[in-house]
Amino acid sequence: MSLESNASCRIFRAPWLIPVSAAPLQNGAVVVESGRIRAVGDADSLCRRYPAAPVTPLPGVILPALVNAHIHLDLSVLGPVPLPSETASMCDWVAALLRKRMEAEHTDLEIQAAAEKTVMQQYASGVGLLLDIGNVSLAPFPASSVEVISLLELLGPSKKAEEAAVDLIQGMPSESAVTGHAPYSTTPELLRFIKERSRKGGSIFSIHLAENRDEGALLLRGEGCFAEFLRQRNAFDGTFPLSGIDSSGVVGYLQQAGLLDDKTVCVHCVHLTENEARILSESQAHVCLCPGSNRFLSVGVADVEMLLRKSILPALGTDSIASNPQLSMWDEMALLRSEHPDVPAAIVLEMATLAGARALQRDDAFGSLAEGRTARCIHVRNAQCERACDEEELLDKLTASGQPASVEWLPV
Ligand SMILES: [Zn+2]
Repeated sequence: MSLESNASCRIFRAPWLIPVSAAPLQNGAVVVESGRIRAVGDADSLCRRYPAAPVTPLPGVILPALVNAHIHLDLSVLGPVPLPSETASMCDWVAALLRKRMEAEHTDLEIQAAAEKTVMQQYASGVGLLLDIGNVSLAPFPASSVEVISLLELLGPSKKAEEAAVDLIQGMPSESAVTGHAPYSTTPELLRFIKERSRKGGSIFSIHLAENRDEGALLLRGEGCFAEFLRQRNAFDGTFPLSGIDSSGVVGYLQQAGLLDDKTVCVHCVHLTENEARILSESQAHVCLCPGSNRFLSVGVADVEMLLRKSILPALGTDSIASNPQLSMWDEMALLRSEHPDVPAAIVLEMATLAGARALQRDDAFGSLAEGRTARCIHVRNAQCERACDEEELLDKLTASGQPASVEWLPV
């Protein structure tokens, strides 16, 4: 064994360490230098290999920061927006959300302050990276907490709205990243325009997809609650049903429109056929599931087992507080475990960490404990985890119990 004499290294050890990219280690440690992980392994071995490095023993479990792959920070100011009635559709909820936003007339300062508070709450819960989709441009968040990737979301369900959105985008600086809202709210031409811009700028393209069955009814037949929603707002101009493109499946439509590649993140994906999951898998597009929001809006439960069978490891997102009052990645994991008891706990933790980091193209730093990754990782305590006698029990308790009693950041 070669001894490492670099005195700028520090060692953090704990009863358990979960690298995510490898099996959990009992009595594990990370060696950290200049904000990066230099080594991961058995604590005693690393202490012998780095004899000059100060050692900090930590209680509980060391693991990578969580990655929230879908949130709308600009909606934080609204708080939860309940479904208007027990029989209300998702479209009724969207209408209630828009009404609340219009009536509240929040100022930019109020929107920013609420968004910052949410970012700090996400940080306190152990989230290190998140993808924020917003309808307004927010000021940058403090670099010392969560790394926030921001995309300005545009929509345009009619030719007129499409032209306005294109004008707006063309007036924006090239470094401002934009994305499209959903197939039911955005013309194919606008989605293609935005995706092409994202491709040129190397940014992520995120789109809400298959959250509700009426999405397909609008694209294929111009029917369903979204059609009614657009008619009521004088935005139903013949764009839907789509013509000149096979819209018999919403995923097939996105594929034909050239929107699917490894920088596309498809959010929700509740109503997918086997064939649609295969198309997503072959295109290398990423999937982000939002179990808490789906339950709140009663839109159904994504078929996680089918996605895994198609070699898709979905990321997880909370969505906004408007459709998810908990806004906790720990609760997302726990809900997913309860809805899919056959999905192993290790896979669920991987969804909340590494899959999100991959979807956001940041797995070089986030999502796992490995050499070269960021040292901004967390250590958590909950009594059940500390009593865990093996890695299976540890992962089970960690993912099924909601937010641990204590979530701390590695003091680097
Ligand atoms: Zn969303």
